Amino acid sequence: MAENKRIRLKKQDIEIPLDQFIVGIKNGDRATLAKAITLIESNHPDHFHAGQQLLKEIIPFTGKSVRIGITGVPGAGKSTFIDRFGTELCRLGKKVAVLAIDPSSTMTGGSILGDKTRMESLSREDNAFIRPSPSSGTLGGVHRKTRESILLCEAAGFDVILVETVGVGQSEVVVRTMVDMFLMLTITGAGDDLQGMKKGIMELVDGIIVTKADGANKDFARKTKNEYNQILHYLVPATDGWETKAYTCSSLTGEGIVELWHVVNEFVNKAKRTGVFLERRKKQTSDWLLTSIAEKLQQSFFQHEQIKSILPTMKRDVEIGNIPVSSAVEQLMNIYLTNNCHKE
Ligand code: GDP
Repeated sequence: MAENKRIRLKKQDIEIPLDQFIVGIKNGDRATLAKAITLIESNHPDHFHAGQQLLKEIIPFTGKSVRIGITGVPGAGKSTFIDRFGTELCRLGKKVAVLAIDPSSTMTGGSILGDKTRMESLSREDNAFIRPSPSSGTLGGVHRKTRESILLCEAAGFDVILVETVGVGQSEVVVRTMVDMFLMLTITGAGDDLQGMKKGIMELVDGIIVTKADGANKDFARKTKNEYNQILHYLVPATDGWETKAYTCSSLTGEGIVELWHVVNEFVNKAKRTGVFLERRKKQTSDWLLTSIAEKLQQSFFQHEQIKSILPTMKRDVEIGNIPVSSAVEQLMNIYLTNNCHKE
């Protein structure tokens, strides 16, 4: 068991022992889970160490969920879809956690059901947990702590984790490195999107969902789905052994929603059978290690006192051609490494 350190989270003015955090999470207590996410998101040094301790304790209880990324431009119908899809899953007896975008971009801290307005029906479900994250200052709602939040949700017993991101290009690349299956929501008449820049995203996803397939829009949605399928046919699928296809659904009528859950199951079963599922997760974790090291090194380099003082001059020198970039790098690295070694 972890040392029973008391953790004070200023924002919510709470003080609870680490043991209580661990027990609460293992019991699936949503209030504790919300506080735990706040803890790991905190930049306070004390919180960092407590957060790491907490993660270490819960790691054995993680990994059992299906992690699904959901992207789409604003207005594509993400929140309405997650609300409906998540609610259906709860009715099927699943525990659903949503790491959602908070469009108001204000931290809702430890609220259990913070996104009541965007996902009203899901927020009423006992088996749902919705955690909004501000979209500003992050990559479309995804940030460096999203992975750890996923682990905490898994330890709390959530079977399905939905990671929502707003389509801003780079955010899709990052989400892809965190999830098992990645879905893009789109609307009808997306003809222009089928060309050019959307192609990159289409090669990252495992399914394209044409939303709002209801009323007068239904036929149009089907037509868009077929157009996507034609293009997908020529693209490299994001997951080995899985054919990325387009689907239609309506979050309003519910048509096609449960069918999408069957698609998810088919995907997971297939990927598990072929070994792709486990391989992807392993690679995601080791890549995460490498990116984290790179981030730490970068931080330490740019916070180095001597580097900070010499860098502006170096920048000017390379700008006016006094010194080649490679030599400047060499000199700076020498300063950084020498001083760091002396510190040891
Ligand atoms: P987001 O910005 O991607 O989260 O999109 P929203 O979920 O907020 O949806 C944008 C608009 O589309 C809202 O006015 C929704 O009511 C509407 N909408 C979403 N899904 C559907 C659907 O399945 N059918 C219809 N007719 N409208 C929908």
